[in-house]
Formats: sequence, structure tokens, C-alpha cells
Amino acid sequence: MSANELWELLREESQSVGLATVYRALRRGVEEGRLVAVELQAGSVRYEPANLKHHHHFLCSRCERAFDLDGCVRQLERLLPAGFRMSGHEILLFGNCADCASEEGG
Ligand SMILES: [Zn+2]
Ligand SMILES: [Zn+2]
Repeated sequence: MSANELWELLREESQSVGLATVYRALRRGVEEGRLVAVELQAGSVRYEPANLKHHHHFLCSRCERAFDLDGCVRQLERLLPAGFRMSGHEILLFGNCADCASEEGG
């Protein structure tokens, strides 16, 4: 979730914390290796626990929520030019989430 989403969640639980405090806590989490920062859109960083197993994300272009996807695509190495070595990959799927897709359909 993004810092803003976390901040709103904390405020709903009537905890009075400033947004700057939330940002600081998230940055410390990244520094300590407990969180990873994921930038799915330029300028919009989300954070998730570092101990999640390998997964990818779906970004809804309508409500801008991000969803975790299980599993992965195999044999991405086949895309590599000869002599290249891959050390990792990121895959971002985007479109409409189920809520938004059903709204769009009427
Ligand atoms: Zn959506
Ligand atoms: Zn993957």
C-alpha cells in the first residue's frame, strides 16, 4: 500500500499520526529490510513486506488500486539475446479490476 493509504488506515483507527511520520516509518522499514518499495507508477511508491514470496502486481488504471498476483511466467529467459544473463524481472499487468470492470459493463 502507499503511504497515503496507510495513513488513511491509521486515521480510521483513530490514531493521530502525521503523514511525515508514516513516511519515516516506511523508509526505516526499507532500510531495515522489512519492507520493499515498489514503484508501479512513476511518482507513486507502494510498500509491501519483504518476506512475501515472488509475485507480481496488477494495477487498475481506473481506481488505481494495486493487487498482488500469485505465480509467475516461466521461461522468460527465452526472451534474452544470446549471451545475456537475467538476474531478476518485474512484471506489471494493468487494466480494470473486477469492481471497475463490472461498473464499466453497466
Ligand atoms: Zn479498479
Ligand atoms: Zn516473476
